Amino acid sequence: MSEYETPISRMAVEQFERAAKHLDLDPNISERLKRPQRALIVSVPIRMDDGSVEVFDGYRVQHNMALGPCKGGIRYHHEVNLGEVTALAMWMSWKCALAGLPMGGAKGGIRCHPETMSRNELQNMTRRYAAEIFLFIGPDTDIPAPDMGTNQQTMAWIMDTYSQHRGFSTPGVVTGKPVSIGGSLGRIEATGRGVVSTVVETAKYLNLNLNGATAVIQGFGNVGSVSAKYLSQSGCKIIAANDSKTAITNSKGFNIEKLIEYKIQNKTLKGFPEAEPISHDELLEIKCDILIPAALGRVINEKNASKIKCKIISEGANGPTTNEADEILFDKGIFVIPDILANSGGVIVSYFEWVQDLQNFFWSEEEISKNLQKIIKKSFHETLSLSQKKKVPMRIAALMLGVRKISDAMLVRGLYA
Ligand code: GLU
Repeated sequence: MSEYETPISRMAVEQFERAAKHLDLDPNISERLKRPQRALIVSVPIRMDDGSVEVFDGYRVQHNMALGPCKGGIRYHHEVNLGEVTALAMWMSWKCALAGLPMGGAKGGIRCHPETMSRNELQNMTRRYAAEIFLFIGPDTDIPAPDMGTNQQTMAWIMDTYSQHRGFSTPGVVTGKPVSIGGSLGRIEATGRGVVSTVVETAKYLNLNLNGATAVIQGFGNVGSVSAKYLSQSGCKIIAANDSKTAITNSKGFNIEKLIEYKIQNKTLKGFPEAEPISHDELLEIKCDILIPAALGRVINEKNASKIKCKIISEGANGPTTNEADEILFDKGIFVIPDILANSGGVIVSYFEWVQDLQNFFWSEEEISKNLQKIIKKSFHETLSLSQKKKVPMRIAALMLGVRKISDAMLVRGLYA
């Protein structure tokens, strides 16, 4: 057993193995792709507001850089560990390759409870973490971005800390920054926009009219709330949603603008007036057309997969469906748009942000949105046609496309030894 191994990293490796079987992959390449290229574990000591010093564990894992510099978010959550970050880094490799970006996969994180920390503590922790991973990241090597528990402000602190160490402003070291310091227009909305584009393409393929279709959103952070907004603009009724504190339903469909406003004001959906409370488990099992898991990993598993009653699942989160659940959903005929395709809008616009930073030339929001749509629709249709040709689920087809591009690059580059 390697240090990387945890249930979620095993799940990621197993997915890879399933795809590799269909690809007839060179076994030497296959062995290398099952583990990351490098991993860094750092201790992050910070002074808390009460004067005490607390030490947090931080990680940055670089899975593969055959196609270009590594790319991937930074997560602040109490369950972060080396195995989880490794799985997420691996998924970033496939995600970037599937979208045709010249980048490899990485991920980082700190095990902490960000919701209980003050702004000052979060800033101290972020800056110290950035200083500890300073030699590991950079615009040519590894470019972090937001993920669960982090946001634009976190990226601004990393960019500033990195720039202070370098001695000059280096916006290209992170993406998902505020626009005022070299961020890209449309980055905040990008993941949710992409999720909804994949739903729109699927609905066309399945002949499902989105006007009046019902949707359930699991997780109401950036990805969940933006997906809800665009689904509702496409005519869908959002009939249930949850966050870490509550799950709520309204069979007539929520007023999404009000719901988003309420979440911003109260930091939770709890207490939203036009809704009935339900349990988190019930939420996933509501009969609906579209289910968007947009929170943690492994929420759809062998225990609840058979009770899920939707037509389409678009995975806003990374790794929300276990491999056992995947098989059950496939047998039930549920169309699953896999994470590395469904939520790739975020990293696609991150790539645009990085390109803009390197060129010091910034694009309009229309241009960003148009190019995002172009890439994600192309990935969707390539995945769909391979899944039909090989008679495999969309996840396997998406993995096959991503893994193949990386393996081709590794073979032609050869082994440096
Ligand atoms: N954290 C996001 C993801 O999992 C975005 C990564 C990025 O933009 O680099 O795809």
